[in-house]
Amino acid sequence: MSNDIWVVGELRGSEPSPWTLELVSGASALAAENGGHVTVLIPEGSDAGALERHGAETVVSIAGAAEQPPVEVTVAAARELLATERPRLTLFPDSLCGRDAASQVAAALELSFVSACERITLSENSAIRSCFRGQLSATLDLPAGAAIATVCEHTFQARETREAGHAERRSVEPQSDGRVVVTDTVAPDPEALGLQEADVLASGGLGVGGPAGFELLERLARLVGGTTSASRAAVDQGWVPRSKQVGQTGVSVTPRVYFACGISGALQHMVGIRGAGKVVALNTDQAAPIMQEADLAAVGDAAEVLPLLLNELDNGGTS
Ligand SMILES: Cc1cc2nc3c(=O)[nH]c(=O)nc-3n(C[C@H](O)[C@H](O)[C@H](O)COP(=O)(O)OP(=O)(O)OC[C@H]3O[C@@H](n4cnc5c(N)ncnc54)[C@H](O)[C@@H]3O)c2cc1C
Repeated sequence: MSNDIWVVGELRGSEPSPWTLELVSGASALAAENGGHVTVLIPEGSDAGALERHGAETVVSIAGAAEQPPVEVTVAAARELLATERPRLTLFPDSLCGRDAASQVAAALELSFVSACERITLSENSAIRSCFRGQLSATLDLPAGAAIATVCEHTFQARETREAGHAERRSVEPQSDGRVVVTDTVAPDPEALGLQEADVLASGGLGVGGPAGFELLERLARLVGGTTSASRAAVDQGWVPRSKQVGQTGVSVTPRVYFACGISGALQHMVGIRGAGKVVALNTDQAAPIMQEADLAAVGDAAEVLPLLLNELDNGGTS
């Protein structure tokens, strides 16, 4: 694997932007610690001398960039070059254009992507960024393969560390344009549209054990006039569509009753059910976090309890 670091820079007029120079200095410091070569990819017409003085060892200018939209031309050039060069890390400024371009390139090349980094430690394969409006800092994995990161302004200090005149200079003309092409549109799952309106949600997690467990929850939901939802772990297993996911990266729900079956109650799940009326939890583990939060907590095996519950409801609660 290459240890090289690339910076995809931006221009301010005909000069590399100050943010770009910070990234070049940062890349140069990271390369000094961990090895690797520093390459800067930037629209043509920029002052390569300034980039060199801040640590660039190769400057690749994007030909014809002045006549094209900056994000599209940057995406096209970066996509083509990074696909073959596969540097260890590619840094973009966390600017509007930088974020836009970086995420498109990462998606196109299926590379790991971390945004808004405030610190990068390559020796530990980690990056730090703020979350929850700056109240917390998260340490994220920066996988050892090729990765893309956008970096906040002033994360690195711009420093001139060498003389200009030694860097390799090349020019590249993208073969494609970086325009986004809509290839398909996917209609939302009609059932999931009801998630936020549902009066009762029968929600399953890893503890329901698989699609068969979700079929029981479907039957339960139909009997009580609600619908089903799920934890992210169950969605990740492919047991239910992602549109059913409740939580921080899913849907926030406000049912009158939320029945959490085989869900542990991780923080990221619980933030999605803050608006629920009553929470009923079924879990084999009495100490699961959701059991402490629930209005009614039942200890039991979903595979045993759900059929009994369905039977009871099928019989109108008379058995
Ligand atoms: C950035 C980020 C965002 C995230 N966003 C979300 C999100 O939006 N929504 C979300 O849900 N998660 C989210 N997660 C994941 C979250 O941290 C948890 O990993 C996930 O919620 C766990 O799902 P789970 O409760 O189904 O699985 P587990 O945590 O594995 O819990 C399974 C539970 O089932 C119980 N159980 C086992 N067997 C049985 C049985 N036979 N009968 C009854 N109970 C049983 C166990 O005791 C356990 O409590 C996110 C994580 C991150 C890092």
